This record gives sequence, C-alpha cells and structure tokens, in this order.
Amino acid sequence: MSFALLNLTLNARVADTEQVNRTRAQSSQLASAFRQVLDMEASLRGFVIVGRDEYLGGYRTAQAALPGILGDLRAQVARNPAGLTPEDRRSLARIDRIGALATRWQQEIAQPEINLRRTQPGAAQAIVASGRGKRIVDAIRTEVDAYGSDQTARLRAAETAAALQLRRLRWMLLGLGLFVLLASVALTLTLSQWLTRALGRLSRAAGDIAQGARGVRLPLRGVRDLQQVAGAFNTMSGQLEEAREEAARRAEALARRNADMTWLGELSDWMQAARSLEEGADVLSRALPTLLPGTRGVLKLHNASRNLLLPLVSWGGLEASYQPAEGCWALRRGETRRGGEPSFAPPCLSGADAPCFSCIPLFSHGETLGTLQLSPQEGEALPAAAQQTLPALTRQLSLALAGLRLQERLRQQTIRDPLTGLFNRRHLEEQLVQAVALAHSTAQPLSLIALDVDHFKRLNDTFGHDAGDAVLVRMGIALRDLTAQHGLATRPGGEEFTVILPGMSLDLAETLAETLRAQVAGWTLTHAGTPLGQITLSLGVAELAEHGTPATLTRVADEALYLAKRSGRNRVCRPPTADVALARA
Ligand code: GH3
Ligand code: MG
Ligand code: MG
Repeated sequence: MSFALLNLTLNARVADTEQVNRTRAQSSQLASAFRQVLDMEASLRGFVIVGRDEYLGGYRTAQAALPGILGDLRAQVARNPAGLTPEDRRSLARIDRIGALATRWQQEIAQPEINLRRTQPGAAQAIVASGRGKRIVDAIRTEVDAYGSDQTARLRAAETAAALQLRRLRWMLLGLGLFVLLASVALTLTLSQWLTRALGRLSRAAGDIAQGARGVRLPLRGVRDLQQVAGAFNTMSGQLEEAREEAARRAEALARRNADMTWLGELSDWMQAARSLEEGADVLSRALPTLLPGTRGVLKLHNASRNLLLPLVSWGGLEASYQPAEGCWALRRGETRRGGEPSFAPPCLSGADAPCFSCIPLFSHGETLGTLQLSPQEGEALPAAAQQTLPALTRQLSLALAGLRLQERLRQQTIRDPLTGLFNRRHLEEQLVQAVALAHSTAQPLSLIALDVDHFKRLNDTFGHDAGDAVLVRMGIALRDLTAQHGLATRPGGEEFTVILPGMSLDLAETLAETLRAQVAGWTLTHAGTPLGQITLSLGVAELAEHGTPATLTRVADEALYLAKRSGRNRVCRPPTADVALARA
C-alpha cells in the first residue's frame, strides 16, 4: 500500500515536473518570439531613420524566424500528453492572437513604412509618429506578459498541488505506518494468546496423561506447525497408552504368576505335611480348583497292579470313575495329549469321564504315577491362567504324589505283616488305643476276637514250614474278607490273629467268630498236592467294659481264647465271668 501511494505520488510529481519543464520551454519560446518582434521593430526603426537597406537585415531574419517559432510554440502547447486543458486552449488563443498581431503589424505598419521610406520618407515618419505600430507592439507585449502570467500561475498551482500531495502522502504514510504498527501488535497479541492456549492445552493433556488418564487427544486445529505438534502429541499419547496397557497386562500376568507361585508354595507345604494319599487328596481337592480356574478335571493314579487308573481327586462337578490304564494315549506316548487343538490325537480309548481335552501324564523318577485330565468349563480351550500354571503344577504334583506314595509304601511296610498282608502287632496296638478312645467317647460297643490256629506246630512238623505259611496266607485272606465291611484284622505274631470290631456287641462278635470258625473248619486245603487235613481255630471274644482299657480288653479276649483251648479247641468262647468282672475293674 505504501509502495502504491509512493508510486502514485511520484507519478504525479513526474507529471508536474514535465508540466513545469514544458511551461518553462514555452515561456522561453514565447520570449524568443517576442524578441523577434522587438528585433523587427528595432531593425525597422533603424531603416526608417537611416534609409539604408542593410538596416533591414535584422527585420528580415526575425520576420523569417517568427512564424517558425510561433508554430513550434503552438505545437508544444497542443502536444500536452494529458490532453488539452482550458489553460492550454487559452494559451493557444494567445499565441494565435500574438501571431495575428505580428502579421497585422507587418502588413499595416512595417511593410507600408518600408515602402514609403523608399519613396516618401516623410510619410513613413508620419506613420511612426502616428503611434499605431507602437500600440500593436504594446498589444503583443500585453499578450506575451499575460501569457507569462498565466504560465507563472500554472507553475505556482502545480507546485502548490505537488506540495499538498506530498503533505498528504506524508500523513498517509504516517497513518499507514501507525496502522501497520497497531495491526502488528494486535496480530502478535492474538498469535501469542493462540500459542498460549495451544501450549496450555498441550501441557494440560500431558499432565492428564501423567496422572494416568486414557484417551487424551488434542484437537487438530490451528496453524500447520501446531497441527503437527498436536498430531505428534496424539501419536505419542496413543503409544503411551499402548505401552501402559502392555505394562498393565504384564504386571497382571506377573501378579498372577506370583499368586500361582504362592499357591504352589502353599500346596507344596500342605502336601509335605500330608501323611497319606488320602490326606494328600483332601489337600488337592481344595487346591486344584483354585490353581486351575475355569477347569474341571480329575486326577487319577495307577492302582498297585498298574492296570487301572483310579480317581484320587475330581473337581468342577465331575463324577470320576476308574478306567483301564491301557487306553490312555497320554500314558502310552508319555506326552501330554492336548485337547482343543488341531492334532492327530484320537479320542480317549478308555472313555475318560469328561471329554478328554487335555490329558497330562504324571511322572516321577522315571515311573508313571497317573494322569491329570482337564477340560474347560466353557469354550474349547483351557483358560490361559490354567495353561500357565500347568507345567509347574504338574511337576510339583508328580513329586508330591510320588513322595506320598513312597511314604505310604514305607508306612505299609512298618504296619503290615509281609506274609499275610494283615496289619502287624504295632498297628494293632495303635488302632486299639484309638478304637477304645472312640468307643468311650461315642458310647458305642467295641469287641475283640483273639484267635489261634490249633496244633499249628504239628502241622509245620508234618507238612513243612511252607505248608504252614500257606495256611497262614489263607487265613489272611479269610480275615480280610471277614473284615471287608467292618473291623480290622491283624496278625500280632505266629499263628495268632486279632480282629478289632468297633461298634459291635459281644453277641455279634461271637456270631462272627463262630462263622469264621465254621468256615475254616470246613476247608479242605492241600499243599504241593498233599491234603493238609482239617484246620481248626480256637477263638476268644470280649467286649470293652465301661472303663476298660486296651490292655484289659486284650487280656480278657486272651483269657477267652485260652478257655477255648482248654475246653478242647475248635470253638468260640466268651471270657470266664470272673475275667469279665476283672476286665470291668
Ligand atoms: P496250640 O493248639 O496249643 O496252639 O498248639 P500249637 O502247636 O499251635 O502252639 P505252639 O505255640 O506250640 O506252636 C506254634 C508254632 O507255630 C511254633 C512255630 O514254629 C510256628 N510258627 C510260628 N510262626 C510261624 C510262621 O510264620 N510260619 C510257620 N510255618 N510256622 C510258624
Ligand atoms: Mg499260639
Ligand atoms: Mg496254636
């Protein structure tokens, strides 16, 4: 805008200058024309006075030059590039009048004077004296002066206009400068406010993110750079959220793993505290649903002859039963059979209780213990949490179960008689203490059968020790069958046996003893093809008295047994009355 104003003013100034120059040139041209008139007049005056032709030299020269000069002047005025102004037209009229006056002076004054001077000098003097020529020249001078005055006035007007324009330009430039200054200040303030707002949004958003807010995004508006900053911020915010979510997922997985480790540690402690597989099963029935959430399953162990898998623990509402070990693909291959994944795995041959999604064989020290069979409670795949826990859990389970099994085996060795498989004296004494305590606390009866094979020494002597052993093994089977439902059969030593009968009265015990006696007496045993003859038993029955102890109960039963021996063997006897009284005492 400033440039346009300057340009405008300069153009006007140039036009003014050109006008001034033209005016000056015209003034000079007019002065030259007027000099020609004065030259002609002076030359004519000399000729009139002297009368010699050489005085007319100046007249002729000026006469010849004047039309050209006036013509040039006219052309200059008429050539105004801005078009003819009223002043120009006035100037042209004056030039024309000057030309006409000059021509009139020549025709009416100069030429007649020249002609008359040659013929009638006096007449020529008379013309001069008449003053007509002087009046015409004065008229020309008046026109020239007026022309000059016009030109001067025009010059002054042009200069005044130029000065005014310059003043106006100065004010306009000042105004413009002020406007630009104010506009810059306003723009700077607006921009800084804008930037402050944008940066404020940015710092607030960053603060929100730092405090864990999610989905924080900046609006993509404003200048390009701010949009780019907002875009970069949004990208960073998104990446930060993803990183936080990933960290949260990992922290959750870690927490879950820690919790699993804690649970597994606790499971390990409880399993180590367990004394038998039954106690271990009790612990596992509480632990497995927690450690394998979202699953149902069953833990099965080999039986002693390793042909069956017997359920130890089941959870998730599964009714588990035994299955032939032969039909388990996982046990056959010694590898986990995964369900819910594409594989060549055929269905469980043994018809496992649940759709057998995953079957994990349990090993310890190179020996297979059994399998852990799992299926998800919902969907087709085991929950991730369960899958994560499984490897560590199965390792620990295998170790714990192997330990319990070994413990069980050792325990059995310490409480069982190896020949008959019945419990030994030590176990008898332990169990009797417990049975007596239970009977007293529950006010339930407790009976005991003490029995001894008759003339066993003779049998040994007659048929050999092996035959004696065979009879003892057969006795073991008979006593186990007898106590299958109720009671505990033991072999305290030699050919003597004791049966504990909790909850059974003396009468019932006597009946049971009689049944056994009759059964054994009816045996027709052979050993190595040799008939062993009749085997008979002497049996004593006793019932726990009100304040009886294990010792008194055992003693009374022994007394009854001796009575049976003394009474001729192959019979059941109750304790002699005195002994009963003693036992009660
Ligand atoms: P009674 O009718 O009075 O009971 O006479 P018995 O011969 O059965 O009694 P005795 O106490 O005289 O003999 C018991 C025999 O049992 C002596 C012993 O050699 C034998 N015996 C003890 N333990 C075993 C064993 O484990 N196997 C065999 N074959 N014999 C045993
Ligand atoms: Mg004996
Ligand atoms: Mg005997």
